[in-house]
Amino acid sequence: MTVGLDTVKFAEETIKLMERMGVARAALEGGTLAATSPNSGETLAMITENSAAETSAAIGRAHDAFKEWRKLPAPRRGELVRLLGEELRSCKDDLGKLVSLEAGKITSEGLGEVQEMIDICDFAVGLSRQLYGLTIATERSGHRMMETWHPSGVVGVISAFNFPVAVWSWNAALAFVCGDSVVWKPSEKSPLTAMAVQALYERAAAKFGDDVPKGLLEVIQGGSKIGETLVDDKRVPVISATGSTRMGLQVGPRVAQRFGKSILELGGNNAAIVTPSADLDLTLRGVAFAAMGTCGQRCTSLRRLITHDSVYDSLIPRLIKAYASVKIGIPTEEGTLIGPLIDKDAFDNMQYALEAAKAAGGIVHGGGRVMADEYPDAYYVQPAIVEMPGQVGPVLEETFAPILYVVRYSDFDEAVEIQNGVGAGLSSSIFTQDIGEAESFVSVTGSDCGIANVNIGPSGAEIGGAFGGEKETGGGREAGSDAWKAYMRRATNTINYSGALPLAQGVKFDVE
Ligand code: NAD
Repeated sequence: MTVGLDTVKFAEETIKLMERMGVARAALEGGTLAATSPNSGETLAMITENSAAETSAAIGRAHDAFKEWRKLPAPRRGELVRLLGEELRSCKDDLGKLVSLEAGKITSEGLGEVQEMIDICDFAVGLSRQLYGLTIATERSGHRMMETWHPSGVVGVISAFNFPVAVWSWNAALAFVCGDSVVWKPSEKSPLTAMAVQALYERAAAKFGDDVPKGLLEVIQGGSKIGETLVDDKRVPVISATGSTRMGLQVGPRVAQRFGKSILELGGNNAAIVTPSADLDLTLRGVAFAAMGTCGQRCTSLRRLITHDSVYDSLIPRLIKAYASVKIGIPTEEGTLIGPLIDKDAFDNMQYALEAAKAAGGIVHGGGRVMADEYPDAYYVQPAIVEMPGQVGPVLEETFAPILYVVRYSDFDEAVEIQNGVGAGLSSSIFTQDIGEAESFVSVTGSDCGIANVNIGPSGAEIGGAFGGEKETGGGREAGSDAWKAYMRRATNTINYSGALPLAQGVKFDVE
C-alpha cells in the first residue's frame, strides 16, 4: 500500500493513544482484521477477528452476567455508568483523537462524539432513579393495578463506522441502568475505538467493585457474518442495529423470526425547506454544517435542499461559493472543516451518484477528488452541490457522501410533499420566520420524519430527545426521552387485597 511520506506517523500515534487508554500493544498486532485510517489509507493495526464459536461464548458470558446484574438496584447500576462517564471525561482528548484517526472526523467532531457519550452517561445516571411504572385505576374494589419494568436480558448492539462510539453509548448507558448486559459488534471499519471504549469500561468496572459481573460488556470484532451470529441468537432478546437500510432489511426479519425485539436505526435522506421568509445568513450556516459536516457521512446529513423560487438566486450562488472555499484536509489539522470519505467504495458511490444526477438533468458544482497526489490511498473530495430539475434519480436515495441536491418549489404544500416523498424518514428541517409555516411543518400534516426542526439543520441532535426515524429508517428510538423502555420488558400486575374474587367485566364464574 502506498501512503504519503508524512502519514506513517498515524499508526504510531494510534498505538500510543490506545495504550494510554488501557489497550495492550499486543492486541493491535498479528490479527487478520486491518484497522485503516481514512486520513491516509494507512493500516493502523491488525486486530483479532472473532469466530462464530467465540461470539456464542461471549453471548453466554453476557447472559450469565445479566442474571446477576439485574438483581442490583437500578441506582446502584447507575453508579457504574457514572464511573464510565468519569473515565470518558478523563480520556476525552485521547478518545476524540482516536475517532479522528479511525473515522476521519475533524477534531471538534471527534471531541463532540465523546462529549455525546459523557452526556448520555449523565442522562442514564439520572434515569437510574426514574424507571417509572404507572399505577392504573382498576374497576374492582380492593385491588391495585400497576406496571413494573424489568430488565430484558442481553442487548446486542451493532454499530456503524460513522459514529463509532457514541451510538454504542446511547444504547449501553441505558441498557446498563435498565439491568441488561451488552454484546457489542462495532463496524469492521472502526474496531479500534471500540477496543479503547472497552478498556475504559473495564477501568470503570474495576472501580465499581466486585458486584459488577464479568461479561457485562462483551465486544466481538468482525463483519456482517459475526453480526448475523449475534442477530440469530435467542439469548439476545433485543438487537439494536445502526447502519444502512440494506442492513436493516436483513437484520429486522431475522430478529422478528425468532420473536426478538429490534431497535433499527437506518439510513436517512434528509431535507431542509428554505421558505421566502428565511433568514438567509442563518440558513447558509445551517445548511453548510448539515450538508458538508463529517464529509456528508452522518445519518442526519442534509442531502436535499428544497428552495423557494423567490430565494433561490440569493441563496444558491452563495452556497456554491461557500462550498468552493471550505478547507478540506487532514481532519486533525487546524482549520480543516472537511475530512476524508471512509474508503474507496464511498468515493465510487459518490461519483456514481453524480453521474446519475447529470444523466437526470442535474448541474453539478464540485464533487471531484482532491489531495490524491499526497494521499493516493485516501479519498478526499470537494463537496458537491447539484441543481436538479426535480426530485428524481439519485435524489431519492441516500448516498453516504457530501452531495447536496437542490430542487425548487413554489407552493408550501408542494415543498412538504417533496420533503416526505422519499423512502427514508429520519430528519428534516425548515428555515422560516413565518410561524404558520413553522407550526405546519411540525404538525400532523407536516414532516413525516422522526426529527423535524425549525431554523436548525437536520443534523447534530442532542441526547435528551429520542433519536430515530420512520419508514425505511426503521422506526427505532435511542438516547433520551422514554427510549429506555425498549431495553426493558413491561409487566402489568393486579393485586387483590379484598378477600373476595370479583372478576373483570362483571363475569360470573362461581364454583362450589
Ligand atoms: P452498514 O450497514 O454497512 O454497517 C453497519 C453495521 O452493520 C456494521 O457493523 C456491519 O458489520 C453490520 N452488518 C451489516 N450487515 C449485517 C447483517 N446482515 N447482519 C448483522 N450485521 C450486519 O453501514 P455503515 O456503512 O457502517 O454506516 C453507514 C450507514 O449507517 C448509513 O446508511 C447511515 O445513514 C446509517 N446510520 C444510521 C444511523 C441512525 O441512527 N439512523 C446512525 C449512523 C449511521
